[in-house]
Amino acid sequence: MPEGINAPTGETRACANCDTPFVIEPEDFLFYERMKVPPPTFCPDCRLQRRMVFRNERALYKRTCDLCKKALIGIYSEGTPFPVYCSECWWSDKWDPEDYAMEYDFGKPFFAQWKELQDRVPRQHTNNTVTSTIVNSVYTNCAGDMKNCYLVFGAMNDEDSMYSHYLNYSRFCVDDLYVLNSEHCYECVDVEQCNNVRWSQSCLGCRDSAFLFDCRNCNDCIGCVGLRNKQYHIFNKPYSKEGYIKEKESLGLDSRAGIGRFRERFMRELYYKLPRKHYHGQMNKDSTGDYLSNSERTESAFYTKNARGSKYIFWAQNVNDVYDYFAWGDMELCCECVSGGYGMHNCKFTHTCWTELRNVDYSSLCFTGSDLFGCIGMRNKRFCVLNKQYGEAEYRDMRARILAQMDIVPYRDAQGIEYRYGENFPIELSPFAYADTVAQEHFPLSSDEIATRGYGKQGAQDHANNAVTKGAVDLPDSIENVSDTILDEVIGCAHNGLCTHQCSNAFRIIPAELEYYRHKDIPLPMLCHNCRHGERVALRNPLKLWHRKCRCSGVRDEEGLYVNRGAHFHGKDACPNEFETSYAPDRPEIVYCEQCYNSEIA
Ligand SMILES: [Zn+2]
Ligand SMILES: [Zn+2]
Ligand SMILES: [Zn+2]
Ligand SMILES: [Zn+2]
Ligand SMILES: [Zn+2]
Repeated sequence: MPEGINAPTGETRACANCDTPFVIEPEDFLFYERMKVPPPTFCPDCRLQRRMVFRNERALYKRTCDLCKKALIGIYSEGTPFPVYCSECWWSDKWDPEDYAMEYDFGKPFFAQWKELQDRVPRQHTNNTVTSTIVNSVYTNCAGDMKNCYLVFGAMNDEDSMYSHYLNYSRFCVDDLYVLNSEHCYECVDVEQCNNVRWSQSCLGCRDSAFLFDCRNCNDCIGCVGLRNKQYHIFNKPYSKEGYIKEKESLGLDSRAGIGRFRERFMRELYYKLPRKHYHGQMNKDSTGDYLSNSERTESAFYTKNARGSKYIFWAQNVNDVYDYFAWGDMELCCECVSGGYGMHNCKFTHTCWTELRNVDYSSLCFTGSDLFGCIGMRNKRFCVLNKQYGEAEYRDMRARILAQMDIVPYRDAQGIEYRYGENFPIELSPFAYADTVAQEHFPLSSDEIATRGYGKQGAQDHANNAVTKGAVDLPDSIENVSDTILDEVIGCAHNGLCTHQCSNAFRIIPAELEYYRHKDIPLPMLCHNCRHGERVALRNPLKLWHRKCRCSGVRDEEGLYVNRGAHFHGKDACPNEFETSYAPDRPEIVYCEQCYNSEIA
C-alpha cells in the first residue's frame, strides 16, 4: 500500500478471553473489511484454542449407529445429545436434515438456537473422507485411503502403519508425527522422503539412519545434526564403512538401555551445540511461521504450503486470503474455519464443512452448496437458515436481520463472555469433550480447569486401568527376550496417568506391532500410545512466534558455544538480522538467521 494517504494503523486490544494485549495490523483490518466481519475480540492464541476444540482427531469410542444399529469405532461416545450415524447411513437418503429445521427466533441468542439444532441433527461417526477407501483400518480418523492401519490420524494414502499422526503417502511407519512419503520410519517427527530412519526429526531424503536432526540426503548416519549428502557418520564424524559398522554395533541401539544412553549423549554433546535456522521451510516471500514453504505475504503460518495473503493458519495448503484456519486446504477468502477445504470460498465460522461451498457461515457438516447460515448436515443446499429452506430474497433478508440481531441479543457463555456476530462458536458448544480435542495437545488443561471454565463435558475415553498385568519397568530390555505371551498382557503406562497426554494408563501390544518390533530389533515401548504421541508433540516448537535477533556475534554464537566455520556476510561484527521464530527467547538452541545458518551448514 502507498504510504501516507488514509493508511489505516494497527491497534492493540485486550483479549476478551485472557486479557492479553494483541495487535490487529492495518492489513488485518482490510481483510476483515473484505470479509465483512468485525475484527476479532479474542487474541490469536485464544482463537486457535477455540478452533482446536472443534476437532477431535485421536479420541475414539465404541458405540452403535443410531440408525442401522451397527457397531462403530468413532469420535463420539455413547450418550451424546445428538444421534450418531455410521458413514453409510449418514450419507444415505434414509434421513433428511431438513426434518430438523428450526424457525429462527429473534428473541433468543443465535448460539443458543444453534446449540438446540446441534443437539438434534445426526453426526457422522468419523471425519474420514467419504469418497476414499478405508480398508482394514477402523481405528483411524480424519483419514482417507488407508489400508491395514491402526490408530493413524490426520492421514492420507497410508498402508501397514500404526500409532501415527499426520502420516501421508507412507508405508510401514510406526509412532510417527508429520511424516510424508516415507517407509519403515519409527519414532520420527517432521520427516519427508525417508526410509528406515528412527528417532529423527526435521529430515529430508535420509535412509538407514538413527538420531538425526536437520539432515538431508544422508544414509548410514547415527547421531548427526545439520549434515547434507553424507554417509557413514556418527556424531557428525566420518567413518570408513567397516569402522561405521563396528561402531554402530557397539552402541547397542537394539536395547532400551542402549537407546537411552545414546539419546542422552546425543542431546548433551551435539543437539544443542550446532546453529539452527530460525524457521523450517523454503521458498517463502514476506512470510513468517514454521514448517512453511512456497508462500507469500503469509504470517504466523505453521505446517503450511502454497499460501498467499493468509494469516494465523495451521496445517494448510493451497490457501489464498485465509485467516484463522486449521486443517487442511484448497480454499480462498475464508476465516475461522476448522476441518475444511476442497474448494471453499467466502466461508466463515465453519467446522467439518468441505467441497465446493460458497457464502456459508456458522455451519457444520455441510458439503457442497452455498448461502447457508447456522446449518448442520446440509448437502447440495442453498438459502437455508437453521436447516430451514427459504427463497433467495427471503434468505438474504433473514441473514441481514440475524446479523443485526446477534449484536443486540448476544450469547453469554459460562464465564460471562459475550458472543456477537463475528465471533466463532464458544468452546462450550463443541460436540467434543475438551480433552478429546487437538486443543488439549497445544493448550493442555487439567480436568479441574476444564470444569472451572465450563468447557463442556469431561472426556470419557475408555481408560484400561483395569487389571494391569505387567509394569512398564518389567518389560525386557530388548525384543529378543519377548515371547508371544506379551500379547496377553495389559502393560501399565510408565506415565501412569500423571501427565496431560490423555494417558490411557495401560496398553496392549497387537500382533502386527510385535512383528514390526521383532523385524526391526526395536524394544517394546514403555508408554501408552497417547503418551508416546504427547512426547512427540513436545519435541516440536509451539505454534507461536517471537521476534528475536540472530545469535551470531561474528566469529561465534553470542554465548560462545559454537565457533563459526564459514565466512559470514557481516564479517566479524554481530549479525544485524532480526526475525520471527518459534524458538522462544529463553530456549537453549543456537538460533541463526537464514544467511548465517547457510554459511555454516551448506
Ligand atoms: Zn487470549
Ligand atoms: Zn500413558
Ligand atoms: Zn503421558
Ligand atoms: Zn545472522
Ligand atoms: Zn553470522
